Amino acid sequence: MSVENLSVASSTAAKKGVIIIGAGLAGWHVIDAIRAKDTEIPITLITADSGDRYHKPMLTMAISQNKRASDLVRASGSEAANTAEVTLLANTQVTDIDPVSQTVQVRSTAQSDDALTTIGYEKMVIAMGAHPIFPKSLPQDLVWHVNHIERFSQLQEKLAAGSQHVAIVGAGMVGTEIAEDLLKAGHKVTLIDLNDAPLSQMLPAKATARIAKAIESQGIQFLGGYQVSAVARVNDDDNNNDSNDSNDSNDGKKLRVDYATLSSDADNTDTQPLEPLIVDHVIASTGLTVDKKLPAAAGVEFDRRTGIVVDAATLRTNAANIYAIGDCMSINGVACRYVAPLRAQAATIADDILGHEHSGYDHKPPMIRLKNKAISVMVTGVPQAAGNWQVKTESDDELIMNLLDDNEVVSATVTIKAPAVPKA
Ligand SMILES: Cc1cc2nc3c(=O)[nH]c(=O)nc-3n(C[C@H](O)[C@H](O)[C@H](O)COP(=O)(O)OP(=O)(O)OC[C@H]3O[C@@H](n4cnc5c(N)ncnc54)[C@H](O)[C@@H]3O)c2cc1C
Repeated sequence: MSVENLSVASSTAAKKGVIIIGAGLAGWHVIDAIRAKDTEIPITLITADSGDRYHKPMLTMAISQNKRASDLVRASGSEAANTAEVTLLANTQVTDIDPVSQTVQVRSTAQSDDALTTIGYEKMVIAMGAHPIFPKSLPQDLVWHVNHIERFSQLQEKLAAGSQHVAIVGAGMVGTEIAEDLLKAGHKVTLIDLNDAPLSQMLPAKATARIAKAIESQGIQFLGGYQVSAVARVNDDDNNNDSNDSNDSNDGKKLRVDYATLSSDADNTDTQPLEPLIVDHVIASTGLTVDKKLPAAAGVEFDRRTGIVVDAATLRTNAANIYAIGDCMSINGVACRYVAPLRAQAATIADDILGHEHSGYDHKPPMIRLKNKAISVMVTGVPQAAGNWQVKTESDDELIMNLLDDNEVVSATVTIKAPAVPKA
């Protein structure tokens, strides 16, 4: 059963059952987990996008592999909904949740009117993800993000026009990965970060220095210790400031990226205004945040930094019959925005919703791997840059460091290896 408009919403309300908000990896994992155990319970999947099933981590590998968004879609939303026998309300935004009457209000994003429809639920799973943070200096109408396949697809189309200069702001995992992907696809890449090296919020300087060196030796221009202060369209007259790069993007306009050092020391010559970058595209990779509007409406406990608070064993929120999973939630005060834990989390939610006995979700931080090929970076535990990091092994080819907690127990380990040189 697959429905892509709201005309059936009232009949869905009569049946109630389970509502899932969001058709990312988290939402679909919950559907798979419920359907593995119960093929009858009515499920309504409400999602602001098309509901297409795709593996989001591929978005930082696809361009160099010449894969278009359509190549990444494993099943369209309607196909997947048919297979799983769920009612799909695609292109539909949940605008309000009433936890007392156990209803949600939804509005179609495909239709021009603002008509709202009310749908009831017995159980609800919030899987609405997190959305990119755009600092004021990065206007959303000029800057791309790669947190969703639809936006990614628009960027990919622009980049298909030929070799271009792309500035990426933010050298966390996503920024560092997409930088290599674009470089491999033949683009000129400038990666800019407030910190001296990539992944600096997660790992100690000794480790991140190796990552900076590896990506620079690949040909990525890394500007560490700089803050982007403005991005603006270049006037047509100034359009020839840079290189011979293609200009067939951003409506034919290049973008000017102003940036400066973080130091305010007037005697330091580095603080002189720097020559702006002139680029074809800017990608923001400056972190994620969870929209608090729906959790607040539902009376769900929420942390501004980490999202919806859930009970670690059941993934229930503090509101009756409401669960949360994926990028929008946190366990024991830590957001875990990775794919690996989703399957076990979804299985727990399915058991809990269906009233099956279960042993409780046991959260284990997943192994984190940077997908770059220039250097191998693997992290276990819960890493954070600040703390007592100790070197375990150090050679030209390998660095292993442990993060020790107050009791000298290892709470995270990073292993960095030079990539194997392919045999001639
Ligand atoms: C480029 C990139 C590369 C990554 N690489 C890796 C990796 O290598 N390994 C790894 O483990 N993790 C990786 N991640 C993280 C991982 O992909 C995410 O943790 C995961 O996909 C999050 O899934 P989600 O379903 O919680 O959120 P999302 O995919 O963001 O889905 C949220 C859904 O909610 C819907 N929605 C939001 N608000 C509403 C509303 N009000 N009403 C209706 N629908 C709504 C949206 O339309 C969307 O369908 C990567 C992330 C990115 C962006």
